[in-house]
Amino acid sequence: MRKQIRGKCPSPLIEKGETWTTTWEKRSAEGGNWNWPTFEKEKLNLLLVPLLRDQNQNHCSFCDGYPLAVTSPETIEHFRPKGSELFPELAFTWDNLFYCCQECQTHKRETFDEALLKPDTDDFKFSKYFIFDFTAGEILPNPVAADSDKNRASKTIEIYGLNKGSRPLHRLQELRRGRSADFPLDHLPYRDFIEAAEAS
Ligand SMILES: [Zn+2]
Repeated sequence: MRKQIRGKCPSPLIEKGETWTTTWEKRSAEGGNWNWPTFEKEKLNLLLVPLLRDQNQNHCSFCDGYPLAVTSPETIEHFRPKGSELFPELAFTWDNLFYCCQECQTHKRETFDEALLKPDTDDFKFSKYFIFDFTAGEILPNPVAADSDKNRASKTIEIYGLNKGSRPLHRLQELRRGRSADFPLDHLPYRDFIEAAEAS
C-alpha cells in the first residue's frame, strides 16, 4: 500500500457525476443493481481505470499486487461502499475511487470502518503504520505506532485480507526472486515489502 497522489477529477465525473449519483441513490434505495453508466458511448469504468491505474503505477492500491489484468482482473474499488445503506452519494466521487485487484475486493465487499487507511491522504506513509514479518511474509501493525494507528493498521489488514490465503507466500516468493540493481521497483509487486527487505 503505497502513498498515491490523486490526479485531477476527470471530466466525465465533473460533467455527469451529480446526475449519475442522483440516479444511483434512487435505484439503490429501490434495491436495484449497480452498473457503470456510459459516457459518450464508452463505459465509465473503462474510462476511469487507466487514470486510476496510472495513479498507482499499475499496482493494486491496497495489497500492491502487480501487474493487474495478468494476476487479477482490474477493478475499481469504492473506498466508502456505494450500497444504499452506506455511501451511495459517493459512488461517483473521484477521491472515493481506487485501482484495486479482485482479491482485495472479494475480502472487503461492502465492509467499511472509519479506521481504514486511505492511501491518497497527505500524511499516509506505509512505515508509520506497518512492518513486515520477513519469515512469514505477513504485514503487521507497527508495534511502535500509537494505539490508534495500530488499530487503523489492523483494520486495514483485516478488511482487505492482506495476510489471507497464499498472499504471504506470494510476497516471500517475490522477495526470494530478488531483483537486479537496475530493475525498477515499480515493475515488481509488493514494493514496500521488497524495499523494506532490501533496507534491512
Ligand atoms: Zn489487492
